[in-house]
Amino acid sequence: MNNILLSITVPCYNEEKNIAILVAELGLVLEEYDYEIILVNDGSTDQTQQVIEFLAIESDKVKFISLSRNFGHQKAIKAGIDHAKGDCIVTMDADLQHPPQTIPEMIALWELGNKVVTAVRSVQGQGSFFKKYTSKLFYLFLSKISNQDVVGNSSDFRLFDKKIVDILRKMPEQDLYIRGLVPWIGFKQTTIKFNEGRRVYGKTKYTLKKMLLLASNGITSSGIKPLRFALSAGILFAMLAFGYGIYAVIATFLGLTVSGWSSIIASIMFLSGIQLMVLGVMGEYLGKMYMANKQRPNYIVSNTNISKKIENDNQQERRAAMF
Ligand code: UDP
Ligand code: MG
Repeated sequence: MNNILLSITVPCYNEEKNIAILVAELGLVLEEYDYEIILVNDGSTDQTQQVIEFLAIESDKVKFISLSRNFGHQKAIKAGIDHAKGDCIVTMDADLQHPPQTIPEMIALWELGNKVVTAVRSVQGQGSFFKKYTSKLFYLFLSKISNQDVVGNSSDFRLFDKKIVDILRKMPEQDLYIRGLVPWIGFKQTTIKFNEGRRVYGKTKYTLKKMLLLASNGITSSGIKPLRFALSAGILFAMLAFGYGIYAVIATFLGLTVSGWSSIIASIMFLSGIQLMVLGVMGEYLGKMYMANKQRPNYIVSNTNISKKIENDNQQERRAAMF
């Protein structure tokens, strides 16, 4: 048990008050393990940077990566994963909602041969009523649309085997949605329950806008099923419109055309609504292709005390081959 290296990576966005507590708690729980903690400062505007640098001076187990601006939760996790050297890597939030006590249980499951251990909230989390139910519905929808079992009720509290991490590193995806990506990878995976704590300090960083963005990313990064749906919806409504057109012609001949203002307005509104939706779905994919074409990195590191990022030779070779 003791000859493995464990990496804990924590995305931190304005978490100045939580980080020191988390690091102390991890220290207690992981005493018997060889571990490193990678704190990723995702462009915080508070004292997070000072706190993590201080913690890194205090303990050589604490590493930090500072991103050049706020890149978002998923990319901050990716930054941590890219720099982690462990045999297994745990990603968890900084706000103490993910209890460190669960980690040894996750490691035990990993030692049984599981390559991914996803921690699932045993009761619906501490979020608002609205968040709980919309999130439940969303995961159901996502599982259907991606043809994969996306674990509902999970956050990004997860243990990855090194092998999976190597695969994740090789993925040049721009619109990262780790929760959707993990079931796609396959291998032996399992889940474990945990009781979600309350965020100790600070507020949730997931505003409604960010949640919707993450949800839209989750859906469109899982495959092209929404495009097919757009096509089927388009065909269905085109057929209905055609049928209605025929009815309109016949009605004219039969002299049945009386006032029809409301039905015309209603059908125009409905059809243009559908059209706009379909265009929106297509635009979303087009935008993704555009962004993917640029091949921009997922994040930019401005400062770190980690000597060397684990380079991904394959990705570089592949990029080199493209030009
Ligand atoms: N986070 C981040 N970048 C962001 C937003 C959030 O690194 O742009 C981090 C945040 O510091 C926390 C984790 O992601 O460690 C989860 O965020 P939060 O607790 O706000 O989400 P919630 O638990 O409310 O879903
Ligand atoms: Mg939280």
